[in-house]
Amino acid sequence: MLREELTKLNIVEINRALQNKQFSVKEITESYLQAIDHSNLNAFISVNKQALKMAEELDQNIGEAKNNVLYGIPLAVKDIILVKDLKATAASQMLKNYIAPYTATVVERLEKEGMLVIGKTNCDEFAMGASNEHSAFGPVLNPHDQTRVSGGSSGGSAVAVAASLAPAALGSDTGGSIRQPAAFCGIVGLKPSYGRISRFGSIAMASSLDQIGPMAKSVEDVAYLLKAMAGVDKKDATSSHKAVPNYPKLIKESDPRQLVIGVPKEYFSDQIDPEIKKAIEEKIKFLENNDFQIKEVSLPSAKYALAVYYLLMPAEVSSNLARFDGLLYGLADQENLALDDWYKTVRSGGFSAEVKRRIMLGTYILSAGYYDAYYKQAQKVRTLIKEDFKKVFADVDVLLTPVTPTPAFKLGEKLDDPLQMYLADIFTVGANVAGICGLSLPIAKTKNNLPIGLQLLANSFEEEKILSLGYFLENNQ
Ligand code: GLN
Repeated sequence: MLREELTKLNIVEINRALQNKQFSVKEITESYLQAIDHSNLNAFISVNKQALKMAEELDQNIGEAKNNVLYGIPLAVKDIILVKDLKATAASQMLKNYIAPYTATVVERLEKEGMLVIGKTNCDEFAMGASNEHSAFGPVLNPHDQTRVSGGSSGGSAVAVAASLAPAALGSDTGGSIRQPAAFCGIVGLKPSYGRISRFGSIAMASSLDQIGPMAKSVEDVAYLLKAMAGVDKKDATSSHKAVPNYPKLIKESDPRQLVIGVPKEYFSDQIDPEIKKAIEEKIKFLENNDFQIKEVSLPSAKYALAVYYLLMPAEVSSNLARFDGLLYGLADQENLALDDWYKTVRSGGFSAEVKRRIMLGTYILSAGYYDAYYKQAQKVRTLIKEDFKKVFADVDVLLTPVTPTPAFKLGEKLDDPLQMYLADIFTVGANVAGICGLSLPIAKTKNNLPIGLQLLANSFEEEKILSLGYFLENNQ
């Protein structure tokens, strides 16, 4: 059965089968669409009604699959990333009927390779959350245990891949939203360095922290996606001119033993779940036994990363979300209302409590009396965190850490306690604050069969290092 086969295949393997004409692009697209339709995990907000027609067109040139691994591969896209003529709701009431007038650069590039967008995935509203429970379209369920969260905010994208509803997905990561759900769902997710990938066409949450990134079943798949997505874009002034390496080739040809690995002691406190700690320590031992050079290192300012994030992020959120005033975007089409009622409706009906909390916090942090004490101070500490990483990366190539302090938690467990929810990102936010890159890959399972992830961090624009070590770990279990 095709469906059963697809649950086992990654992008590279599907490509091989497409080349051998084992099945067509139309057949796999149909199979994924059916699986989405039958799934109760709530990973998708909408599907692309044109997908089958696009698949048929791609089948006309199937010879292309020989030169191009991504040709004919279906792609799931987080619903804060725009795809022309498809809805982009950001999982918010505010944008529930918004149709994207253009396509994000990253999606455009992947479409040029021959990928086809199969649907838009559920997420936390405007990417604010760590469990995918803050979505106007309901929570996403974890396929490994449906009483648990998928992680967030890119929970729908992580579940799409983990449950084989799509072989590849795009997420966005402002404080951990690709790496954390990837870890909770047992897939591979990459947060690229700030500037590696264009953000044009992504609904902004916190512009100095946001990055779009790939999610898939293997490190090699992620390397192919990154290569196609990366590089300068004249529509995003923060995208870098740096040349894009041939990541898939590099990871297969380089010797990861050349890389010095650092283990930052601040990431191994007693608050980590003992099963996660044990799995990571075993990986470190495994690397030592395989002649890797491992060093203990220190990032003394790391403990401030979460506090800095929860000052700078809401400040930027309050500014970015000011555009949703009900006139340009939002619920403006409320006709037949008196002016006062119209204001009340368009200004209050769209956002959930979590989004409002962040806008209010951000407005407060940026207000005249508090700007110096909060915003400016947080910027200073951001510099210290960046310098910490810079110092450490003069000594080691890659940092190895946990992704999350716990495995996927129960639905509802942290919903009434935002501070507990914010702690889910304690190990991931540092990379966003410093602008460096990070990879999350599955390394083990708990005794309850929940995935455990490992995080590899490298300096800005050194994605090939984490991908190459990740590739080694994935192929040498
Ligand atoms: N969970 C974090 C938050 O709630 C990170 C979100 C993200 O990376 N988009 O802000």
